[in-house]
Amino acid sequence: MLRLSGLRLPLDHPADAMPAAICARLGIASADLISHAVVRRGNDARRKNAIQLIYTVDVELADEQAVLDRFAKDHDVRPRPDTDYRFVARAPEGWGGKRPVVIGAGPCGLFAGLILAQMGFRPIILDRGKAVRERTKDTWGLWRRAELNPDSNVQFGEGGAGTFSDGKLYCRVKDPRFLGRKVLHEFVAAGAPSDILTEAHPHIGTFRLVTMVESLRRQIEMLGGEYRWQHKVDELELERQDQGTQRLRGLHLSDGSFIEADHVVLAVGHSARPTFEMLHRRGVHIEPKPFSIGVRIEHPQSWIDRARFGQCAGHPVLGAAAYSLAHHCDNGRTVYSFCMCPGGRVVAATSEEGRVVTNGMSQHSRAEFNANSGLVVGIDPERDFPGGPLAGIDLQRHWESLAYQAGGSSYWAPGQKVGDFLAGRPSTGLGEVTPSYKPGVTLTDLSNCLPGFVVDAFREALPVFGRQIANYDHPDAVMTGVETRTSSPIRITRGADYQSLNVAGLYPAGEGAGYAGGILSAAIDGIKVAEAIGLAISAGQAG
Ligand code: FAD
Repeated sequence: MLRLSGLRLPLDHPADAMPAAICARLGIASADLISHAVVRRGNDARRKNAIQLIYTVDVELADEQAVLDRFAKDHDVRPRPDTDYRFVARAPEGWGGKRPVVIGAGPCGLFAGLILAQMGFRPIILDRGKAVRERTKDTWGLWRRAELNPDSNVQFGEGGAGTFSDGKLYCRVKDPRFLGRKVLHEFVAAGAPSDILTEAHPHIGTFRLVTMVESLRRQIEMLGGEYRWQHKVDELELERQDQGTQRLRGLHLSDGSFIEADHVVLAVGHSARPTFEMLHRRGVHIEPKPFSIGVRIEHPQSWIDRARFGQCAGHPVLGAAAYSLAHHCDNGRTVYSFCMCPGGRVVAATSEEGRVVTNGMSQHSRAEFNANSGLVVGIDPERDFPGGPLAGIDLQRHWESLAYQAGGSSYWAPGQKVGDFLAGRPSTGLGEVTPSYKPGVTLTDLSNCLPGFVVDAFREALPVFGRQIANYDHPDAVMTGVETRTSSPIRITRGADYQSLNVAGLYPAGEGAGYAGGILSAAIDGIKVAEAIGLAISAGQAG
């Protein structure tokens, strides 16, 4: 089997055009093509009146070696890679050792738990939040009634931060072992649409994610794993070792109970601020890391579709158009679009009382009226928050609190039309664009709840983006803020064995630990950490 990449066909090509295109590309007779299967499909919309689909296909040929020899210098013609997942360890039949514990049931903890369970290590998964159906009610409580549950919300509970999201399932991490394929196959087995296996930019959407995490939970439980909801880890039980390092012996929970554990996956996500504070107090090695800050911007999806796809806007194969923008500003800052959600809505994403945070979500159909995206500026510890490992959290809280006040201290988000923002005056009324954030938007001057350099950078970047996507800087486009949870403000540094640099047995993982940014990369990281634990337990090591 060979893998052929970069095969281009016109947007409206007939189904039978594919075999002919493969044969033409490889210079073979049609009789020599035995079979083919699409592995990936993307599009190239740079020329709006000649949009092309770009395929990667696996092909079975009568004489594959001859073709490989002929295309030896062509990187688009290669032997098909082996993408099957293989377990690195297995618990012996009837294994009764000390069970590994996973803190956090987000994508990272979910996949760490799944792999540990599939290897036979019967993990215990703890989460401070609730199972996904109950959690959904609490999350909607904030969106509909402005009632926040600090333990069960858009950040905390089964499925983690990405449950109420666009469910984008792609990432840029290097993945030489194709662990991302393992994740996608597990998602499909749990009810995701099978097109996520072939789309270049797959997404799932919120409602499907809810049923999928339930299905994955059932699998973990059938394999002997166990979930414990509303179990918040408050303290680590540590034992001193030589050379200033410590060893993890167990976990103290907020209800006063204690769990003995030698191997713990710490997959608490980027919003686990009390947990980060506890880790810092206990001397776990933590470093500050860059993250970004900004707002959500909304336009009618039809504007984005027209700008990206021209006359082909609305074509069923293309779906709702996405975009990705970046501009390097004169003040040395970079403005970029983040977590763009076509046909979706802006959501209230705070997990702390008295703060406002924005993010975006959509359903699988991406059929809602507005497109939204984070519009953010990168910040770094040396320049912007030089006060120690947790200074980034203080900074986030500062701007989130100002946003809460600017919104009217009722979980409404402060919002402003782009035209008013560029002119430096508060908004007093809406135009063509209705913001989707619930419970509501208070029109105001957003520059009061953003750092000055972010305001300056936005004022420079918006007109530039307007030249790339028509109407991006339309005066009626709406911005709501603040977007502060783009990634973790810290890294809980680990060594080559995936354990904390100075606490043996603690395996920091996923987005909160600074090792992932998004659902897929967090899930991949969960697999890697589970494998490290499987190997450590199998080798009979203490950690
Ligand atoms: P999380 O998903 O944050 O999970 C951490 C879990 O740990 C939570 O369930 C929490 O309750 C639990 N926890 C925290 N502290 C404790 C404690 N002390 N004790 C016990 N449990 C604890 N990414 C994408 O790739 N595509 C998208 O479309 C996308 N959209 C998003 C939309 C929204 C609204 C949000 C908020 C995020 C979105 N993301 C998206 C980002 C993505 O959700 C995260 O990158 C991902 O969830 C990180 O996974 P994680 O498992 O590392 O952490």
